[in-house]
Amino acid sequence: MAALLIVVLAAVWIAFAPIQMGGQTAYVIVDGVSMEPNFHFGDLAIIRQAKSYQIGDIVAYKNIPLKRYVFHRIIDIQSDHFVLKGDNNSWNDSYQPVQSELVGKFWLYLPHVGSWVRWARQPLNMGLMAGILGGILAIGIFYRRNRNGINMKRKSIGEWFHNLRLQSFHEIMSKASQSRIFKPFKTNPLLQEQTSNPRHIRNLNHWGQTLEGIFFLLALIAFASLVLGYFAFTRPTQQNVPDNINYQQVGMFSYSANAPAGIYDSTSIHSGDPLFPKLTCLVNMRFSYALAGIQPESLGGTYQLFAKILDEQSGWQRSIPLTSQTTFVGDTFVVSAPLDLCQVESLVASVEQSTTLYPSYYSLNIVPVVAINGKVAGHELNDTFAPALVFRFDKIVFSLVNDDPKANPLNPTQAGSIKNFRTEANTLTILGTDYEVGKLRLITLIGLLISMAGIAIIAGFISNLTRQSREALLQLKYGPLLVEAHDRIADAPSNIIDVGAMEDLVKLAERNNSMILYQSRNSINFYTVRNGASTYRYALSEMGNAASPLTLVELEEDLQRGLERGEFEVYYQPILTLADGKVSGVEALMRWQHPERGLIPASEFIPVAEATGLINPLGDWLLGVACAQLKTWRDNGLPLTLSINLSEHQLRGDPAGSILRVLQNSGIDPHALQIEVPDTHIIERLQNVIPKLQDLKDRGVQIAIDDATGNSALSPLPQLPMTNIKLERPVVERIVDKEKAVNLQRMIEAARGLGLKVSAVGVETQEQLEFLRSQYCTFAQGYLIGRPTSAQELTASLLDDRKLKSTEGFKNLQGEAIS
Ligand code: C2E
Ligand code: CA
Repeated sequence: MAALLIVVLAAVWIAFAPIQMGGQTAYVIVDGVSMEPNFHFGDLAIIRQAKSYQIGDIVAYKNIPLKRYVFHRIIDIQSDHFVLKGDNNSWNDSYQPVQSELVGKFWLYLPHVGSWVRWARQPLNMGLMAGILGGILAIGIFYRRNRNGINMKRKSIGEWFHNLRLQSFHEIMSKASQSRIFKPFKTNPLLQEQTSNPRHIRNLNHWGQTLEGIFFLLALIAFASLVLGYFAFTRPTQQNVPDNINYQQVGMFSYSANAPAGIYDSTSIHSGDPLFPKLTCLVNMRFSYALAGIQPESLGGTYQLFAKILDEQSGWQRSIPLTSQTTFVGDTFVVSAPLDLCQVESLVASVEQSTTLYPSYYSLNIVPVVAINGKVAGHELNDTFAPALVFRFDKIVFSLVNDDPKANPLNPTQAGSIKNFRTEANTLTILGTDYEVGKLRLITLIGLLISMAGIAIIAGFISNLTRQSREALLQLKYGPLLVEAHDRIADAPSNIIDVGAMEDLVKLAERNNSMILYQSRNSINFYTVRNGASTYRYALSEMGNAASPLTLVELEEDLQRGLERGEFEVYYQPILTLADGKVSGVEALMRWQHPERGLIPASEFIPVAEATGLINPLGDWLLGVACAQLKTWRDNGLPLTLSINLSEHQLRGDPAGSILRVLQNSGIDPHALQIEVPDTHIIERLQNVIPKLQDLKDRGVQIAIDDATGNSALSPLPQLPMTNIKLERPVVERIVDKEKAVNLQRMIEAARGLGLKVSAVGVETQEQLEFLRSQYCTFAQGYLIGRPTSAQELTASLLDDRKLKSTEGFKNLQGEAIS
């Protein structure tokens, strides 16, 4: 397919590449009616270069004086010049190009297309089309389909703009950098919410695609600017155009003589009359001179009048100066001198006698030799003028010769010109249009500047992201390959293969021709590729530095080390029975005393422990420690109950077995133990867990649903072996809102109706506590009652608590806490 495409593209290139780009084709828009009826104004004629051209071929050539292409037919070939004519014209083209000036021979014809091309070439229309094309491209980018058909969520342009408005560049940057500020990702009954992806990441994905598009556009502009720059900078910006300064030297001969009466009309002979030496010897020769030119300046020169008698056949000639050489100032002068015809006659006679050569006639030339210099139009002028007034002398009469019927021999003129060049802007022809080289250089520089600046900004943005968030960079880099998954891809219990680098996953995806599924859950970003029964996974946790987040593999090693080194602790949070206002129990919450990062709350590392499977050994360890602590408290007369959290991963194992073992070994009353399981939907999914929970319940162990958010979580409860329900913190927080308070009220009533005890988590204010009490909520837990703390501290604080002071045997507890 690709090879076919290359062949087709190559063929199109060979056929249609313009001459300006190294091809053989030129595009000429018919610009007149001279070739009608076959070619009309506004048609596009496609011309191809040919090796030779014949009479009858229709060709295009550049008419240099007209500065435009002409599209006419060859009607004749004269030596190396082609004579052309428009089919409709009655005249031939005045310009006759040589072969190298012919652009090519007519090849293809597209009616009206030329008009469209002309329209499209207008800068305004070009801008309009670029805008439309850009829009289409943008739509293409955002609507790009996933390669293997996984139904990728389509984002509307409207949404995109909405997102752009909401999340400016800076917001994205700051959000990307803040991504390490951890917000616990609470498990929620609605899967949709559970897997919801932080919005900024999605936007970065958009940005990645947009940036990619912009990057390619900028690279294209940079490339085009470089190519244009090559042509623009290798040509001069100015060119010398011939601009000659023209002038004219004009002479006026006249002669006069006296004549005997009766021969001529009068007794004086005038210019043009024949002269007979027999009638008159003396003739007055007169010559007036003028130079016509613009802005004459400092003109002057010399002149001398000669009479030259010559025999054209033998070449004999004799010059007779009629005046001496005279200088003149200005652009005119008049000279007159007598000419003795009898002297000429006797000279001829004596030469004939001496030479015995008897020509039938002689020429008498009256020649003023003029030399003029000065300035015309500010330019140096240095010229001569030596016209001749020619008489034919056949030894009887001197008659004026007039060879050229169009010219007056008495009024000789001589056109002159001073070579001059005018500098004008040099132009470069691109697709038939001339552009000034200087402007092209500017456009090139602006294009390069804009594209380079744009590329630099993108590079800066990416390098900034690299420094701030590896996660954001991944989204930017692999955005088009990523598909946001709404399935629980991240925690398939088996056949998960963790890869050490995103690049490995990309290779896998490319080999499988599949997309990378992306999901952000519990502050871990999972990237997975499914291949048969195996799931390849690359996961980044928001634990650690956002710029260099730890991969799950690294975290697993860290957790394992922490477990081996005994860095984990159990904290206990007191639980209050609302009916009597006494602390009746504790919830065991895990803490990690990290050697470098200090005390890490469970919310940060439990998701990692869960994803890596390390939650099982950790959970077993906690169960042992907390139950031993419970036994100490109870053995010392403190009737506390203990709540232990079990994660989804733990539930997939055999939690009931280990719990029963611990209970048996420690001899703790099963009624003193409560296990807290994740929301109802998870339990529903883990059907085989239900009998195990039932078994525990039957033995007296309390079973609480953690994090209940609303009625949706309560509906499956009648089928599940539950004893308690814990309302999550946001629900408790919302009681300030009257409407929400009514909901909470209904939830408590519904739970009580199912025979469940109700606990409220995250009680932080007295108002919340009072409300819960008024609604007959069973237990309350939160910072208001007590923060999670070490067993030792809790024991000490409980000691101070009057509610417990009365408890028998309580004092024995001091200093005996197990940690
Ligand atoms: P959870 O079961 O909902 O635990 C309550 C969390 O809320 C605890 O965070 C606790 O420190 C916090 N908390 C309690 N009262 C208040 C309050 O009034 N205000 C606020 N803002 N927060 C309050 P922690 O310890 O980080 O635990 C987070 C989650 O980690 C727990 O949520 C639980 O699901 C899980 N977890 C904790 N320890 C263990 C464990 O040993 N095993 C398992 N499987 N999960 C655990
Ligand atoms: Ca809990």
